[in-house]
Amino acid sequence: MNRPARKLNGGKLVLASHNEGKLREIRDLVAPHGIEVVSAAELDLPEPEETGTSFAANAELKALAATHATGLPALSDDSGLSVDTLDGDPGIYSARWAGPDRDFMMAMRNVQEALMAKGATSPAARGAEFVSALCLAYPDGETFLFEGIVRGEIVWPPRGTQGFGYDPIFLPENHNKTFGEMTPQQKHGPRPGGEPGLSHRARAFALFEKFGL
Ligand code: IMP
Repeated sequence: MNRPARKLNGGKLVLASHNEGKLREIRDLVAPHGIEVVSAAELDLPEPEETGTSFAANAELKALAATHATGLPALSDDSGLSVDTLDGDPGIYSARWAGPDRDFMMAMRNVQEALMAKGATSPAARGAEFVSALCLAYPDGETFLFEGIVRGEIVWPPRGTQGFGYDPIFLPENHNKTFGEMTPQQKHGPRPGGEPGLSHRARAFALFEKFGL
């Protein structure tokens, strides 16, 4: 990151994801920059196996797979919910906790049951964070990583029907609505005074913007 930024110069960018929720949010974040985006899902690219042991490693392998398959710069997101009392679980396994059918009601219930098994009933015992690692990769193998975090607590029962994944059980710090109760603008849109959006993904994207798109 100590080299001059490589710019996309308004060119085409592959979004290295098949996750509809993530794609919607990343498209919103990229939109003001006038960059043409196409998703790995639209291009029918295979999903690489997530063999990394960190968000950053998985983001990097997904972005490299997409840039090598297409010859275009690629942006990936590896993200998840890390719960303090559960030693960071589900963490990089957030999608896998939802099983092959991607049943997030089941995944949220599993988080709640794991917390109850630890006797975690007070807000202080239910601290958690959403993490997003964004990776920009170029066909020559160069990569740039940007990581964003938002702290909050796990609430039960789930609240709200907006967003995706674990949004209905995540109450961000200093807010009274879960991500599931927030509009897309409230979850990841820019905040007054030029502050980056609230979500982990918006915060990671703000670092990408600072670096230079
Ligand atoms: P992966 O990055 O493809 O391994 O999947 C990350 C998983 O974490 C997603 O399938 C979601 O369940 C969860 N996740 C990541 N970001 C969010 C978010 O913004 N809201 C809710 N769930 C999320």
